Amino acid sequence: MTAERRPHPVTGAAFASPVPPGTGWPDDPAETDTPVAHDAADVERLAATAPDLEELTARQSVCRACPRLVEWREGVAASPRRSFAGQPYWGRPVAGWGDPAPAVMIVGLAPAAHGGNRTGRIFTGDRSGDWLFAALARVGLAVQPTSVSAGDGQRLLGVRVVAAVRCAPPENKPLPAERDACFPWLRREWELCAPTVRSVVALGSYGWTAAVRTLAALGYRIPRPRPKFGHGAEVLLAPPDRSAADWPEVLLIGSYHPSQQNTFTGKLTEPMLDAVLTRAADHAGLPRLPAN
Ligand code: SF4
Repeated sequence: MTAERRPHPVTGAAFASPVPPGTGWPDDPAETDTPVAHDAADVERLAATAPDLEELTARQSVCRACPRLVEWREGVAASPRRSFAGQPYWGRPVAGWGDPAPAVMIVGLAPAAHGGNRTGRIFTGDRSGDWLFAALARVGLAVQPTSVSAGDGQRLLGVRVVAAVRCAPPENKPLPAERDACFPWLRREWELCAPTVRSVVALGSYGWTAAVRTLAALGYRIPRPRPKFGHGAEVLLAPPDRSAADWPEVLLIGSYHPSQQNTFTGKLTEPMLDAVLTRAADHAGLPRLPAN
């Protein structure tokens, strides 16, 4: 941690980087006494026993189970990119964010080192996020076209965004062991949201694989062979065959990831992403804001 305290871009309050929990960062779900996971077994236990989304996201946001990722995220936070040098860096895991009772779940890979790892909100503060939030606003699922910082007034309507891995990895490449260690956070978050989720948008093949793995772990019936990722690929999945689980069936839809590599080359265009989000919203029966 750097002792230097820098002002938050929205509130102006000064924070160390990484940000200590419970010190007033906008939307910080954790308190000073939130339990901390120090290894994969802790993640399993603390995820399984989190009684609700509020406590789950708090526990996610202070996790220290992956030594390589903790070192990386905190090192980046202590040495910001020059263009963000005046800002504090969140430097902690980035929890799922959005509607607490979502009809549409969007699944990505992991926060970016100078995006979510800086702002504390998933897909916020980097080019991929700029694309995603602009698209969500265009199709009427976000109240504003930008998401620049926690506390900026952005709000998603019936949509929640989650990452398969909650800490920014070096070169955007988590190790399989890190992906597996983080999986219980995703599974529990999805389980708590499952009563309302009707559509899932998987960003890229990594998001698709994570979504299929999570749905399988929760008992949704997955066809064999497992469905393959593609842009616009769709598969309708029946809920678990358990009378206690009154969950709807889920439409899983693939989208190319809005990475710069895909958007700069035209592999993913705005109409393509808008069409996927519209399909997800319409399947889920979500009311949408008029186009803005
Ligand atoms: Fe914890 Fe997940 Fe971050 Fe690993 S990647 S430290 S499990 S939040």
